[in-house]
Amino acid sequence: MHIALRMFYGSEFGPFAHLRPAKLHMPNVHHFSLSSLFMCGSAIIVFPNHQEQTMTDRMRFLPLLLLFASAMATLQAQTSAGNVTSPTTAAATSAPAGADSTSAPIVEYAPPPAEYARAKAYSNAHYRHFFFDAFYGFLVLFVLLRWRLAPAFRNLAERVSTRRLVQLVVFAPLLLLTIAILGIATDIKDQSLLRAYGLSVQDWGPWLRDWILNQALMLIVGTLLVGILYAVVRRSPKRWWFYFWIASIPVLLAIFFLQPIVIDPLFYTFKPLQTVQPVLLSEMQKVVHRGGMEIPADRMFVMNASSKQTGLNAYVTGFGASKRVVVWDNTIAKATVPETLFVFGHEMGHYVLLHLPKEISIDAAILLFLLYLGYRLSNGMLARWGAKWGIRDLQDWASLPVLIFVITALAFLATPAFNAVSRHFEHEADRYGLEVIHGIVPDPNQVAAHYFEKSGETNLSDPDPNTFIKVWFYDHPTRPERVHFVATYDPWSKGKAPKYVK
Ligand SMILES: [Zn+2]
Repeated sequence: MHIALRMFYGSEFGPFAHLRPAKLHMPNVHHFSLSSLFMCGSAIIVFPNHQEQTMTDRMRFLPLLLLFASAMATLQAQTSAGNVTSPTTAAATSAPAGADSTSAPIVEYAPPPAEYARAKAYSNAHYRHFFFDAFYGFLVLFVLLRWRLAPAFRNLAERVSTRRLVQLVVFAPLLLLTIAILGIATDIKDQSLLRAYGLSVQDWGPWLRDWILNQALMLIVGTLLVGILYAVVRRSPKRWWFYFWIASIPVLLAIFFLQPIVIDPLFYTFKPLQTVQPVLLSEMQKVVHRGGMEIPADRMFVMNASSKQTGLNAYVTGFGASKRVVVWDNTIAKATVPETLFVFGHEMGHYVLLHLPKEISIDAAILLFLLYLGYRLSNGMLARWGAKWGIRDLQDWASLPVLIFVITALAFLATPAFNAVSRHFEHEADRYGLEVIHGIVPDPNQVAAHYFEKSGETNLSDPDPNTFIKVWFYDHPTRPERVHFVATYDPWSKGKAPKYVK
């Protein structure tokens, strides 16, 4: 199930993450990170900008500054080594579909030199964008505080009405929209990068339309969450962090439930798999039965990702009555049927192994802790600089940028924890995917390895991310790790029992 939007790279934190263009390492298999869901709450508050991963990127700007210098030095070194092929010329040589049907078995991820250089150049450019965006996001919040924009908006809201609800509807959209508009520069820059490397094929007109639509959705959800936040802050100045956590869960679950049926169709077209790819559907049903599952055919869809992007992906989304499996049309076009079955098996693993509720629970626990820290920190900041910034106290609407700042910083610091949880579930989904297609497709190990190689090249996955990059940016195992695992995982030949699918 894929979920959602996470911050760096393939991290998906937030409701629309799986609709984003393929990212850096963005796995073939769409990501699951439910953490997303919850973080999206803060993300929404943080920056009402759901465009691609920029929003999530911005969630981490503060501590990023601390890491900025050392990281830049590292990247600088990497870039000089990796910047061999220019993006434009390299784009023409990107791996053709099916070019991987070579005879030598894949053991490790080893793209050809030109592909390697191109993926490396893109990854490094992306890292630099990320750091710049982070810095810029920090700057925007700092300017908001320094120029006392939030107090100005609050004064306006209070002049309009003495009713809190009216003030909310004036203040929150004004502040969130200001942040979004100030942030559009980096959104444009990110889209330019995706277009330069051929990862996005969306023209600027449609891109702007999506951007506006995203802002509108974010304003609605953001205003709702801001309303809840200040209601609990006023009612319980000492326990609001706990009540906000409780109150935001049903809201976020509602968004998550509605996403596949209300939100996603605003951006893409979904067709039932059985009408578009009946043969593939019947193959998938074999995999479903092998896993002892029941996934009705009307819960499987094809998404026209190719209208906007070139990467390969699939995901599971929604829950209860809205739960479904979605395969990108790019995947069907570029991957073989056995490879697509592996992708599907991975997604099914998330479904069967209950990764969604497990990840939600773990992430929610982490979030509760973060909110508590946020409570302590925001009080400290207001005590120190509140007067200077024109903020009366935490109950003042004008304190919103401070809360955004604090949540952003903490969410960033918790990234390695969220990523580690997610990487674990993604790894287990890879294992499940291999096990569930065993006996249905010949040589599942090589099928999966070919798929990861192909999608890694198509998605310009970093061919050798270092530990720093992995810890902060990867909510899936890295591409070399995934290829190595799927190429070598073979309990059957050793006479051992597979872990999930007997
Ligand atoms: Zn996954």
